[in-house]
Amino acid sequence: MPPARFQSGDTVMGRWPGSNLYYEVKVLSYDSKTRLYTVIYKDGTELELKESDITSLAIFKQSVGRSRSRSRSRSPGRPRRSRSRSPARTSRRSSSRTTDLRKENAGREKLKEMLEVRLTPLPMTLENNSNNKHEEKEENNTDNTASAITEQKTETESENQTGGRYNLRRRKDMGDGKAVEKKAETEALSQTKTPAVIKTTDLEFGGRVGVFFLIFLLPVAVLALLILCGQKDASLQSFPLELPTLQSLWDCQVFGIVLLWLLFQAVLSLLPVGKLVEGMPLKNGKTLKYRINGFYALLLTAVAVGVAVYQEVDLSYIHAHFLHFYTSALLIVTLLSVYLFVRSRWASGEELAPGGNSSYIIYDFFMGRELNPRIKNFDIKFFCEMRPGLMGWVLINFAMLLAEMKHQNLENPSPAMLLVNIFQLLWVVDGFWHEEKLLTMMDIVYDGFGFMLTFGDLAFVPFTFTCQAYYLVSHPNELSVFWIVTLITMNGVGYYIFRKANSQKFAFRKNPSDPTVSHLKTIPTATGKSLIVSGLWGFVRHPNYLGDIIMGLAWSLPCGFNHLIPYFYLIYLITLLVHRNARDERQCRKKYGSAWEDYCKAVPYRIFPGIY
Ligand code: NDP
Repeated sequence: MPPARFQSGDTVMGRWPGSNLYYEVKVLSYDSKTRLYTVIYKDGTELELKESDITSLAIFKQSVGRSRSRSRSRSPGRPRRSRSRSPARTSRRSSSRTTDLRKENAGREKLKEMLEVRLTPLPMTLENNSNNKHEEKEENNTDNTASAITEQKTETESENQTGGRYNLRRRKDMGDGKAVEKKAETEALSQTKTPAVIKTTDLEFGGRVGVFFLIFLLPVAVLALLILCGQKDASLQSFPLELPTLQSLWDCQVFGIVLLWLLFQAVLSLLPVGKLVEGMPLKNGKTLKYRINGFYALLLTAVAVGVAVYQEVDLSYIHAHFLHFYTSALLIVTLLSVYLFVRSRWASGEELAPGGNSSYIIYDFFMGRELNPRIKNFDIKFFCEMRPGLMGWVLINFAMLLAEMKHQNLENPSPAMLLVNIFQLLWVVDGFWHEEKLLTMMDIVYDGFGFMLTFGDLAFVPFTFTCQAYYLVSHPNELSVFWIVTLITMNGVGYYIFRKANSQKFAFRKNPSDPTVSHLKTIPTATGKSLIVSGLWGFVRHPNYLGDIIMGLAWSLPCGFNHLIPYFYLIYLITLLVHRNARDERQCRKKYGSAWEDYCKAVPYRIFPGIY
């Protein structure tokens, strides 16, 4: 068996499947059995290529040189090569093009902007019969930037163009969810024989056994937290808790109210106000449209709540029936998860989430099989992610404020309750103001919609994020002016870091030359994207998490130091973000390789400066 011509680590030119375009790639490994090389492109795509599709840089440059001199002397009547569809082919506008083509090009431009992948295609020309002048112009342009070389079209090549021999592997894990399929990549994909359905093999959360326990443990843990938070002795030593009666857990009227709330929010989300934006490209290259009107919905909800209070509707009812509300939400979560799982049976392979298709029923039920379940234009996941839960959070906080005044016979809410309400309201308003950014987050781009997200969105967020306000109703805590000023400052600092870091990264990813971020120092990476290494992103590697945690502390401190329970949110947030950070760093190390190592050296701390 002949030895491998190229070694791991060699930088060579590799052909993109189904095309005649060559890109600079790095050899990762060689499989002597299949005689295929695993190579990685600059955008992180890994492929297996045959030796005949790989050329050394030196030979390629020589060929390019020869071809340049030939192409300069081409006569207009010279036969042209046909256009090959390449993943990184630059799209050009022509007045004679059809609207569809313009749309496609615009989509590609946008996609390119979003992904910031800077692959430079180096086309290998083939002798053929096309005589299209526009193509000639385009090709000449391409020649200027890339250069073409002439090559005999062999039998093997035509075989390759049908894609029969290539094995296109997607990056295994999309991690933070911002990595998306490029349309062009999908085009190449469609030319290969890659199966449309990708099976989930890397199981998270302890696999089948882990999620089985989580499905039961999560609802019970939240119930225990609520029972503890509501009773006079909120000490953890009160365990084991007395089992609640069925009557204290279920109320049909409350269930009806929760259904009405969901319906009301669904109607608001469908109002034709606010802009329609496109989400990140899907596996098939298409994008879904989303109505961004959360901020208006929040305003309308505030008006509706104001009218209800004016009409003397007693919102402290929510406090009195808090457990009923929770169990009602839990029932809805369960029914919705079952519905989502059943309907996913009819979803096509490309509509499935990469992480929820393991074929293990319990695991897929928990992780969510379908990526974007929709009923016509109503996107169930996008709706549930923020609307009922985050609005519910604010409404419950407000109900707790009224309940505090009622239970403690206060004319005005306590400063502690006011601070908790205002701080958290600010966070929610900020979330709705930047609602569009949700479309680039892991939950929307990567995660399927199953029990995990429905429980998180409809039960966990509204019932545990409100635990400080719930606690304060029966555990008053006096705050001195010094403490009030300190807490306001702390929340302000946390918010500043959180917002600035997120906005900076968003602006930078959208356009690195944006004047608001162009002054920042960066580290280039092999993918063409850069990493910010100064300012907040040079302070710690996840300044946005740090800001979030500082805010979380400012939300818990108003409850004083008598019990640990009001610090539940803070403990949860730190655990979540430390875990999320580890997961994200793993992805970034894979994506950016040595550039990420350089970033870690330059910015040694992950979240907490000097500590972690
Ligand atoms: P990030 O917004 O921090 O995204 C991480 C990604 O940012 C990386 O994968 C990388 O992606 C990019 N990146 C990392 N370092 C750099 C750098 N130096 N320069 C440029 N880009 C970089 O993560 P999340 O989506 O997890 O969090 C978003 C916000 O949501 C955070 O503020 C977080 O606190 C908050 N959050 C709050 C939760 C809560 O329950 N309260 C839960 C989850 C999140 P790439 O290079 O591919 O762009």
